[in-house]
Amino acid sequence: MRVLLAEDELVLSDQIKSLLVAEGRAVDVVLDGDEAHFLGSTEPYDIIILDLGLPNRDGISVLKNWRREGVDTPVLILTARDTWSERVDGLDAGADDYMTKPFNMSELAARVRAMLRRKSGQTNPVFEVDDIIFDSRNGRVSKNGIPVDLTTQEVAVLSYLIHNSGRLISRTELSEHIYEYDGDRDSNTIAVFVARLRKKLGPNIIRTIRGRGYLIDAT
Ligand code: CA
Repeated sequence: MRVLLAEDELVLSDQIKSLLVAEGRAVDVVLDGDEAHFLGSTEPYDIIILDLGLPNRDGISVLKNWRREGVDTPVLILTARDTWSERVDGLDAGADDYMTKPFNMSELAARVRAMLRRKSGQTNPVFEVDDIIFDSRNGRVSKNGIPVDLTTQEVAVLSYLIHNSGRLISRTELSEHIYEYDGDRDSNTIAVFVARLRKKLGPNIIRTIRGRGYLIDAT
């Protein structure tokens, strides 16, 4: 899952990025409103975390522009304390959720997970496909009740496919959602990750649609 993080307080953006990267997410950080608007309009993010107080262009106007342009990525806004009117403006401009600074990092991570679940139409944080269970709260995977050890990249691939189960995912789309903007996107590597996942989880869980991509069947 790929995240755009627009936050100009460097200490805070570093903290948030580390937290999300530890959960296997690819995170692009931008420090001003113009960059935020550009990347949010041109790159396929799964979620956007948007500070409302950004240099060059404020968060509310960035958000309004995205929504006007048809960018429907879920947006979590970060607002200053005691500014209820800012939160109202943000929600009315098309934000999906908000957090007020200072906030607890675990709560932010949980809200991001909840937003990703909602986006995939899933209410239960635990995804089940055949004999495989994927717990999106901690990235743990088990097969027939036995824990399976996956690398961060393997979890990232599985997580994207499982959040989009029932939908054919091309290698290009997959790589766009597991690597950062300046990441080394090699679609052959994707094939390697999928092969390893099949070895660990069983041959049938991820289907290959020849020449088109991968699919986990919806259950
Ligand atoms: Ca700020």
